Amino acid sequence: MSLANCSRCGKVFSHVTGGRDICPACIKEEDDNYLKIFHYLSTRPSATAQEIAQATEVDVKEIYRYVRENRLRLVQGDTGLQCESCGIPITQGKLCDNCAKILSAEIKIDIEKFKQNKPKIATNDLIRDPKYLKDRRGKGN
Ligand SMILES: [Zn+2]
Ligand SMILES: [Zn+2]
Repeated sequence: MSLANCSRCGKVFSHVTGGRDICPACIKEEDDNYLKIFHYLSTRPSATAQEIAQATEVDVKEIYRYVRENRLRLVQGDTGLQCESCGIPITQGKLCDNCAKILSAEIKIDIEKFKQNKPKIATNDLIRDPKYLKDRRGKGN
């Protein structure tokens, strides 16, 4: 556990390794907002992000963030969210299908490259590093 700044409100909070990068207060607020959106969508499945924002008072940027995180899906014709690569309107995630395909191909190439020139980890250096030793001791407590 270490201290981190909440990516949503900027407050310092104890960050759990592998946990969310927002503080507990924001997690609660996000969950409340998400539920509001979810309930509203169950009555108005064809609402656009703008309509959801108006009805639930949740910031429209936050709604689009949920979409990028794949927690929400936009209705067809909502043009508020664009592919981060080519800019065409999309309804879910960060990329359109085409760019997602291209990107996954590129990631594959990167992994291949990484496999080819694996960095040699000098174990001795790690053990001599005082920070490493400190971390080790910290975990023991
Ligand atoms: Zn926060
Ligand atoms: Zn695209």
